[in-house]
Amino acid sequence: MDRRLFVALTLVACAHRAPQPADPLIAFTEAAARDIAAAWCLCLYASMFKAGLFGLTLLALLCACQKNEYQLRKEWQEQQAERLKPVELDTGGEKTWRRFQVQRVRVYADAAFVKRVGDLRRYFSEQLDRANEVLNSAMQLRLELEEARELPAKIDGTDLDAMLKAVREADPGKDVDFVVALTGVKPILTMSFHQLGRAEELGKHIVMRSMDDAAELRELDKGLDKIDAADRAQLYASRKRHKECAVFLHELAHTLGAIHTVAPEDLMHPAYSSDMVAFASPNVDLMRYVLDERTTDEEKRDTEALIKRLDVYLSSS
Ligand SMILES: [Zn+2]
Repeated sequence: MDRRLFVALTLVACAHRAPQPADPLIAFTEAAARDIAAAWCLCLYASMFKAGLFGLTLLALLCACQKNEYQLRKEWQEQQAERLKPVELDTGGEKTWRRFQVQRVRVYADAAFVKRVGDLRRYFSEQLDRANEVLNSAMQLRLELEEARELPAKIDGTDLDAMLKAVREADPGKDVDFVVALTGVKPILTMSFHQLGRAEELGKHIVMRSMDDAAELRELDKGLDKIDAADRAQLYASRKRHKECAVFLHELAHTLGAIHTVAPEDLMHPAYSSDMVAFASPNVDLMRYVLDERTTDEEKRDTEALIKRLDVYLSSS
């Protein structure tokens, strides 16, 4: 009788090593419940019979179970971390272009933004380098930083529409091709491009929020707590870099006439995704039309002809 009971209880304690449900969290909870039930039975049994021997058996079983559950959870978190990695933006592979159209950008940032990034000039130059990898390949366009300036204190970054208007009034950007203003006020967790940035369509002004996302960082720390802190930090940084670049390219494209599309991996989809990879070719053509017009001498420009051209293009595509 004793032997049969021991075998039965041992089987109960080990049963949860059977195939796990698909969701590791459910697997973990179910296994923990079974651990407790098995431990309770074994304690009861041990108190009645050979306490020392069964105490050791119980300890060994629980240690083995804990190790397995930890391993299971770690592996699941590693898979999640892999899925959360953003895709690489399309930079055209090994192609190299000999000639670029160069456009100059002036950047402003408020005190809250500078506090987050430190050296604004260095930070934004790196942003432009990343954006240029996509623009070089798609449109043979290269952006160069003309100047980094502090945003006048009276311009508030809470409302992006109001900010865009105020920046345009403060700096019409007559001597540069684009004016970008960055705010560190109220970073928000959203996938909507237009809560992260705004641009003047067919204009030259862009405003963007900081992509620092304390909520996302907290979620990563909480949800991936079995992964090394350095790996979590690297994952967060790569997601932030992808988002910053995608939002900048999306808003820049609006200033060059690009319109929203339906494919989630297209940079002109209205909602941000870490799967975004490139601009679809109809928008690249549109942007090229507008860029060609902009770089034509002012007296030779024919805006009406451009509008007709865009109209014909849009109705035929
Ligand atoms: Zn948009």
